[in-house]
Amino acid sequence: MAGKIKNCPMCGKLFNDMGNKVCMDCYEQIQKKEQEVVSFVRENRGAKVPEICEATGAPIGMIKKMIREGRFEQIGVKMTYPCEKCGAPIISGKLCQQCEEKARTELQKQAALQTAARQLAKTDQNRGQGFRSKER
Ligand SMILES: [Zn+2]
Ligand SMILES: [Zn+2]
Repeated sequence: MAGKIKNCPMCGKLFNDMGNKVCMDCYEQIQKKEQEVVSFVRENRGAKVPEICEATGAPIGMIKKMIREGRFEQIGVKMTYPCEKCGAPIISGKLCQQCEEKARTELQKQAALQTAARQLAKTDQNRGQGFRSKER
């Protein structure tokens, strides 16, 4: 199976992408870093994500990805990272369920408002032809 030749997003080198998305060198580096993170967590159970970042130098995105992949559950550590809105512990996505729910309703509300505004505009255009905008 032949891969795609492209630039490594980490070091910029041209490489043959076989699905790792980064070149072999960087891939190895990532593997090593992940190992480092795992052994740090194993020795420091209960360490928070920012502490792990600081101690290992691993980017937060890497640790989040590892949490999503269940890498810490494999070693018996329940690891979470904070919701971007309220700080509640989550293991996937960016927001906790509550905030996600809220964001969804917010979006629906906005969409509904936009639809209402469009209808209102239409009603305005049609004024004088028997249309009346419904107000609550
Ligand atoms: Zn690279
Ligand atoms: Zn939240």
